[in-house]
Amino acid sequence: MTAEAALGAASTMAIIGAGQAGAEVATLLRQSRFEGRILLFGDEPYLPYQRPPLSKAYLSGEIGADALIYKAAVAYEKADVELRLGQRVSEIDRAAKRILLDGGEPVAYDRLVLATGGRARQLAVPGAELRNIFYLRNIADVQALQPELLSGRRLVIIGAGYVGLEVAAVAIKRRLAVTVLEAMPRVLARVTAPELSAFYERFHREAGVEIRTGVSVAGFAPTQDGARVSEVLSGEGDAIAADLVLVGIGLVANTELAERAGLVVDGGIVVDDQSRTSDPEIYAIGDCAIHANHGFLRRKIRVESVPNALEQARAAAASIMGKPCAPAAAPWFWSDQYDLKLQMVGLSDGYEKVVIRGAQESASFIAFYLKDGTIIAADAVNRPGDFMAAKRLVGERMSIAAESLADENISLKTLMATGAR
Ligand SMILES: Cc1cc2nc3c(=O)[nH]c(=O)nc-3n(C[C@H](O)[C@H](O)[C@H](O)COP(=O)(O)OP(=O)(O)OC[C@H]3O[C@@H](n4cnc5c(N)ncnc54)[C@H](O)[C@@H]3O)c2cc1C
Repeated sequence: MTAEAALGAASTMAIIGAGQAGAEVATLLRQSRFEGRILLFGDEPYLPYQRPPLSKAYLSGEIGADALIYKAAVAYEKADVELRLGQRVSEIDRAAKRILLDGGEPVAYDRLVLATGGRARQLAVPGAELRNIFYLRNIADVQALQPELLSGRRLVIIGAGYVGLEVAAVAIKRRLAVTVLEAMPRVLARVTAPELSAFYERFHREAGVEIRTGVSVAGFAPTQDGARVSEVLSGEGDAIAADLVLVGIGLVANTELAERAGLVVDGGIVVDDQSRTSDPEIYAIGDCAIHANHGFLRRKIRVESVPNALEQARAAAASIMGKPCAPAAAPWFWSDQYDLKLQMVGLSDGYEKVVIRGAQESASFIAFYLKDGTIIAADAVNRPGDFMAAKRLVGERMSIAAESLADENISLKTLMATGAR
């Protein structure tokens, strides 16, 4: 009997982690006619919510917490998903096929999905325990940070990745004095080309943000009472005055449960293209999972994005129900800073040439990354239409001459019709 055939009305699906990935797989399973019990455990007290606005519209106060909710409570009721919010799962007992909740309650499962996400990487330097050092991963983090974003205060942001730059954009609008420290020689260095980094650096500087690159953080100096941060101390010997600090230096995947249960973990819970872990009855999806061999990129990679979380949820649901999985698409992501909508598709590392279409001065352009003549990635700024086309160009690994890509007199639609695949 196959694993799928064994799942009937008496079976139990347990999902650990009530973020977007967990919520998606729970409701999809019911849509796919899974007949058994579906239990969704989440250690936060909220309905599953969307994290992207945490550093954007929610932090700025443009939207309230209600607008973060991913699916209304009624969607879980309709799908007969049992929400167990505010409940942490502390152990997986694979031999007995049960999980243990904090407090010791055991819950039996037939299939298990790990959707445990990740946590903000902590900065381990002297003074890191001082008050007024903030991180940004969940609603509670924003609720702690937001009241501190008062006009005139000096905010030092450590890390010029998406989260750091998005917070800088919000804080400068609130009239704080914002300094961003980045250890690499340029902002967004891990994800984009120097041209894009230069564009974003210029935009932030013109808005009033001070950006210092090539700066490492060695520690924090306290105020006289020893409670709060007064200065950020750089490895290069500078002291940067601060009333508050935001650290945005990436994410650590929540893999401990999986590790203790003996699943294969390597910078994330290792999964195949159907989101299956090394135990065929346990799946892992979203930020906690690492693709052993990403279906599109053909390499080992952990992707932190909503589209990836939802795609892996769909793959897991299909696999559990014994249905074919759609092939993995080129990963994509977005970031909102000021009035700039950045949308990125594919992975640009290893590119040989970057071609810019449109004028950077107009803040509306798209950068294509080419390798061996093939378009491997694209970053679009305020070009949603071109981004849709770019998703196809990257997805179909098209080869188009650089001069044609840069020529705005030829539409991308025309290029798609004529380019080589
Ligand atoms: C500030 C910020 C901005 C972002 N902006 C963007 C963006 O613009 N575009 C984009 O595509 N992506 C963005 N992302 C990334 C995106 O939000 C994540 O990729 C996505 O939320 C991953 O979803 P997930 O369900 O895998 O994990 P999560 O959303 O982290 O959910 C996991 C949940 O599991 C819970 N959990 C963990 N362990 C246990 C346990 N043992 N028991 C019970 N519950 C547990 C966690 O507390 C959490 O609630 C952003 C992320 C952040 C933090």
